[in-house]
Amino acid sequence: MKGRLVALVGPEQVELHEYDLPEIPPGAALLKVRRANVCGSDLHIWHFLSVAFRDIVMGHEFVAEVAELGEGLTTDSAGQPLKVGDRVAAVYYHTCLKCAACGRGDFSMCSNAVASMGAPPTSPPHFTGAFATHYFLSPGQFFYKVPDEVSDAAVAGANCGLAQMMFSLDKVGVRRGTNVVIQGAGGLGLYAAAVANRSGANVIVVEREPVRIAAARLFGAHHIVDMSELTTVEERTQRILDLTKGIGADAIIEVTGRSEAFAEAIEYARVGASIASVGNLNVGEKFELKFAPAWITRKQLRIVGVLRYDPWYLRDAIQFLADNGDRFPFDALTDRVFTMDEVIEALELSESRIVSRAAIIPV
Ligand SMILES: [Zn+2]
Ligand SMILES: [Zn+2]
Repeated sequence: MKGRLVALVGPEQVELHEYDLPEIPPGAALLKVRRANVCGSDLHIWHFLSVAFRDIVMGHEFVAEVAELGEGLTTDSAGQPLKVGDRVAAVYYHTCLKCAACGRGDFSMCSNAVASMGAPPTSPPHFTGAFATHYFLSPGQFFYKVPDEVSDAAVAGANCGLAQMMFSLDKVGVRRGTNVVIQGAGGLGLYAAAVANRSGANVIVVEREPVRIAAARLFGAHHIVDMSELTTVEERTQRILDLTKGIGADAIIEVTGRSEAFAEAIEYARVGASIASVGNLNVGEKFELKFAPAWITRKQLRIVGVLRYDPWYLRDAIQFLADNGDRFPFDALTDRVFTMDEVIEALELSESRIVSRAAIIPV
């Protein structure tokens, strides 16, 4: 039997390739992709801006079903029994359990994280990305069963955005009573708002676009700092002081991908605050230092960069969707569905922001 996949062959150049489905060794599994999302980092990769991901199969944010289980693989990574046809979500990166980071328990920092997803489509097992009919789950790769009450549309983003936001909120200590500022209400910001809301935090979202502001309210924002009304950093900072009894934010999550947002987070921060830098991924981007580094010292700030997440956060993300599916409209995050033959259109419309979240359903 053959399967198809979307291979990235050059900047903004993708091709549909067809390969025999791989042999499944012990401990591995063959998954049938049910739905994959176009994530912001897929656009970054599509433009050839990522050095690690060039000659690859595109896509990493997805839900699938078990097509074939390798010998010895009888449960998911939480010990739940598994059979062919079960829906699962997989951690998209590799944890080798052998490198220095894995040895410390810092699984999100595994130095071999890209071992499988950075593999070229031409070499077996070929199916190492999610824009494909099938996906090869490596032995040892973390993955979790998806309960029936969680839809494909809701869970497709769990293994990237939602798990990463749950990890980020933990990293900056968001809990009951925390004044948390979320910069940007794209997919990541909405997930962050929903999780922070359920943690009992006071959720403040900074955003400019009316559609995103409306979405932020649906996803648990208590307060909006509207950048179209408050046009200067000073005005926005004052608003955040007003919303936090004059103290400033305890925690800030930057998910805009704009370097100036990082500088602005330092303004919002109270003394001793924590800032998670998540959205800025482009190492080529220039950053004009608008603040004196002394402010980091004087404000005693804790700044943490977050890339990926520890694998078990995916288990918690799926549980969060099961528990809160009727509270937040996770299904409605996707505004358009494409086939595999329409991948270029899906990427282009996502890039131009005509579509805010595209999903690909392989046929
Ligand atoms: Zn992603
Ligand atoms: Zn490792």
